[in-house]
Amino acid sequence: MRFKDKVALVTGGGRGIGAATAELFASEGAKVVVSDMDEAPAREVADPIKGLAIACDVTKREAVESMIDRTVKELGRIDVLVTCAGIIRDNLLYKMTDDDWDSVIDTHLKGTFLCARAAQKHMVAQKSGKMVFLSSTSALGNRGQTNYSAAKAGLQGMARTLAIELGPFNINVNAVAPGFVETRMTRATAERMGVDYEAFKLGAASQIPLRRVGQPADIASVIAFLCSDESSFVSGQTVYVRGGP
Ligand code: NDP
Repeated sequence: MRFKDKVALVTGGGRGIGAATAELFASEGAKVVVSDMDEAPAREVADPIKGLAIACDVTKREAVESMIDRTVKELGRIDVLVTCAGIIRDNLLYKMTDDDWDSVIDTHLKGTFLCARAAQKHMVAQKSGKMVFLSSTSALGNRGQTNYSAAKAGLQGMARTLAIELGPFNINVNAVAPGFVETRMTRATAERMGVDYEAFKLGAASQIPLRRVGQPADIASVIAFLCSDESSFVSGQTVYVRGGP
């Protein structure tokens, strides 16, 4: 029960890694806000764990601020922010459109910035808080992902900077960078490439030292560690969770 009496908000919580994270927080006593673009997936995850479902497009400042205000109004505080909301719009540079660039940068980078800025107001006042941003191994470079890798590398810089700014208020800010995780996102990549998903996973696993792809729960457990008191002296770090170095 590491999160007893804590309030945790997870963006992109209606699917994949965000859903697994929301469920883990709830199983350890947290009151959880499951936020997603649409209410239906958020509710599907929130209802069984008695959480609060909030539809919120993280690229919209008003929507983000009202989500954080509603969290504090209905649940009393906000202790944990995890930003999982994400999209991919892969293309080689010469084919990448302005819209491919803007939508990916807006969702990951601006979305996380807006959520962090709105949440810190309450965390600073209560002199405690934990933030975890979802980065990716793509931050190190990945063909066809100019937009996504720039956003994911940017999130690592944002985590380091906020760790410095918010540390004096007892707020830890870290990033988690997964490798291949079995979710709708990697399924969509396989579809776009015209590859069977099972074959795609086998191919990915053969390149991973632990010889398997990640599951959402593999990432959720590391996020939870970084949001728990066990890691209270860890801040500004990026933890790669990819089955190998
Ligand atoms: P999913 O696609 O399963 O879930 C992402 C969720 O974010 C979806 O429910 C999606 O809603 C939501 N979302 C998208 N745009 C917005 C927005 N503007 N506002 C609010 N919600 C939004 O992805 P994963 O669980 O795989 O990924 C979670 C995070 O982990 C992402 O940041 C991703 O980049 C990162 N990651 C994933 C890896 C993987 O292998 N799966 C590897 C490395 C990092 P909708 O369905 O409406 O689009």
